Amino acid sequence: MGTDIRVHQVFAGRVLHGPGARFLVPDEVERLGSQRVLLVAAPSSAEVARDLAAALGERYAATFGRPAQHTPVEVTAEALALAGEVRADAIVAIGGGSAIGLSKALAIRTGMPQVAVPTTYAGSEATPVLGETENGVKTTRRDPAFAPGTVVYDPELTLSLPRGLTLTSALNALAHAVEALWDTGASAATRAYAVESADGILAALPVVLDRPSDVVARGRLQEAAWLGGACLAQAQMGLHHQLAHALGGTFGLPHAELHALLLAHVMRFNLVATPDTAARLARVAGGDPTLAVASLAARHEGPTTLGALGVPRTALREVAERVADDPYPNPRPVTADGVEELLVAAW
Ligand code: NAD
Repeated sequence: MGTDIRVHQVFAGRVLHGPGARFLVPDEVERLGSQRVLLVAAPSSAEVARDLAAALGERYAATFGRPAQHTPVEVTAEALALAGEVRADAIVAIGGGSAIGLSKALAIRTGMPQVAVPTTYAGSEATPVLGETENGVKTTRRDPAFAPGTVVYDPELTLSLPRGLTLTSALNALAHAVEALWDTGASAATRAYAVESADGILAALPVVLDRPSDVVARGRLQEAAWLGGACLAQAQMGLHHQLAHALGGTFGLPHAELHALLLAHVMRFNLVATPDTAARLARVAGGDPTLAVASLAARHEGPTTLGALGVPRTALREVAERVADDPYPNPRPVTADGVEELLVAAW
């Protein structure tokens, strides 16, 4: 008994979504009973943060404006000192995974409630997970206390996302949904999220790439990415994430670009072993899902191969062996030869 029981845990208890939703952040802060808000804002969100500070009035305490990738503990210490100085009692984080990561790091150290206002499609706001870096070593922890209780998705805040980051960040979100679909332990709710997420991303991303200022398409894409983030929180990630971790960690590669270029290759490898996932994705894509993803990835104007990202061809066998030695759960058995073939194709 017990092995077939699936647990579905929901994180952000309150999610607001729609153009202009950012104007409701002061109301959300009031709901939390906060008197002294610390804003954590990526430099790209400095102007939005200034407007929000003005709208918060007396509830505004300070802004920390320098979150960094992979949440270095020294940056967290600086932000923590500021939070203490201004006696902050809640955090509002505006930006991508880096700003939201810092917010999570502060929340776990102080117990402050968080309102996350995401501006990329990375999905961190939907997860109880944080990766922190100390002395160059990244450690990932999972704790429900990391997850922001309120998330405010305003598609207008994604209009400024450059084309390249729009594409790679959205394919990163799609990877969360695809891996949830082939996770045999995922709950029915997670599978439903995954299908809606994949459908939304495959439908809206081409429109957004053609018309980056189309707020309706941006809204659909953001909603789909939210569900992808929820999949990341709830499902076990497989070979795709293992390869991204192994390659990203070893060679210090850009998170979203790496995910974007790997996804079609991993789908080609895995979908033969998971006909149910293949059929669902084919319905959603209206054709071959691997080709649909490959052709979206090919629209990236930056690096689209491992070689172009700077991974040496000679390193591929070693990475393949490391991955096959201790594989994440995956629908197709992971062998060093199989992974090497996949990596050579991606190279
Ligand atoms: P990021 O937050 O570092 O943002 C990338 C760049 O884009 C930054 O320079 C940022 O200022 C800029 N930017 C963000 N939004 C913008 C906008 N709307 N317009 C213009 N520029 C904008 O990167 P990311 O891809 O969002 O997140 C990656 C980080 O998040 C990594 O550290 C990754 O490990 C982490 N992450 C964590 C989880 C989790 O569940 N813990 C999930 C996904 C990602």
